[in-house]
Amino acid sequence: MKSKVLFSEEVIKKRISEIAKSIKKDLGYDDLVVIALLRGGFIYASDLVRKLRENIIIDFITTSSYDNNEYSSGVVDILSDIRTNVENKNVLIVDDILDSGRTLLKVKKHIESKNPKNIKTSVLLDKKSRRIENIEADYVGFEIEDYFVVGYGLNYGEYFRNVPYIFIFE
Ligand code: 5GP
Repeated sequence: MKSKVLFSEEVIKKRISEIAKSIKKDLGYDDLVVIALLRGGFIYASDLVRKLRENIIIDFITTSSYDNNEYSSGVVDILSDIRTNVENKNVLIVDDILDSGRTLLKVKKHIESKNPKNIKTSVLLDKKSRRIENIEADYVGFEIEDYFVVGYGLNYGEYFRNVPYIFIFE
């Protein structure tokens, strides 16, 4: 299968530094709990947190996936929850990609019910044209067209998450 690189390692790295700068500017130096969505968000989150500062708690939440289908079934379940008490804390939810918006909306509402001080969201990629839910991320890496993207945390049949750049199959 032929593939085409959409975002190289260098381009991703540069954009993450810019995002980290904006986050630091907006959130100052208060304690921050970063919640990464598993599994796709783990690579982006790990690069992003290393560009932020030291007083960060990192936790993970697992949502139901696409079950290896390219498109969402529409129902998002929380399969495993965070362990951190986020009451009165600043929270940053991090995911790989915003598509229909169902996953981020579900997680955001779930975290909101735990009474944090503030919630911000960041996704590396945003497929705006596919949005179904009324949700935007506060910090977006790149807006993309309706491609099925792979690499940098994003899977194709559970493979390729470890590829350090983002590509599409042609
Ligand atoms: P949403 O709930 O916004 O429709 O979808 C979010 C989740 O769907 C992402 O966290 C990601 O796991 C998956 N997803 C959406 N678009 C793509 C894509 O283009 N490629 C891959 N590999 N996963 C995607």
